Amino acid sequence: MSEEIITRYEYELAEPPCAPGSGRYGVRIILSEDISPVFPYLNTVLEDTYYDHENKVLIGREERRQYAFRATEIRVAGVNEAAQAPEAVRNAVKLVNRVWQERATIKPSFTERKLPTAIDIYRHLPKTNCRQCDYSTCLVFASELRTGKCMLEQCPPLFLQENTARLETIRKLFAIE
Ligand code: SF4
Repeated sequence: MSEEIITRYEYELAEPPCAPGSGRYGVRIILSEDISPVFPYLNTVLEDTYYDHENKVLIGREERRQYAFRATEIRVAGVNEAAQAPEAVRNAVKLVNRVWQERATIKPSFTERKLPTAIDIYRHLPKTNCRQCDYSTCLVFASELRTGKCMLEQCPPLFLQENTARLETIRKLFAIE
């Protein structure tokens, strides 16, 4: 099995909208193909996974890098400088293609681990509805964060010193170190 499941993609760098120059980024990789068939294998290989098979959402870690996979999109968190983005993208694509190519040797896992609820996340957000994340309320942000459609880095207030405890608690909810 040598075929690649990802053959074409583009990516964009997402800087927190109201914190340009903050040095925090997330990367969104837009895919041409539906990669959800690889999710049960990634669910076996990755650490700390959250998997919703029906809705084709998988969140997990490899080597301290947090990924959120959807059918035609991958989000990569924790890119500290724009210059790191190309390598982070290459590694994400390589990871998916490698697991797909090795799938005959990997026992697929359909075990689902529930994501924290939007309310669980919301409870620990700053709850100011300041919209710096580009969402209308903290609850909407929580709901999108839950399924990997946005990233923690998009909420600049969370990274203020006064919100360190909140940030740590949310990271624990998602098992992000
Ligand atoms: S989630 Fe963060 S950035 Fe978004 S509205 Fe709430 S406090 Fe503001």
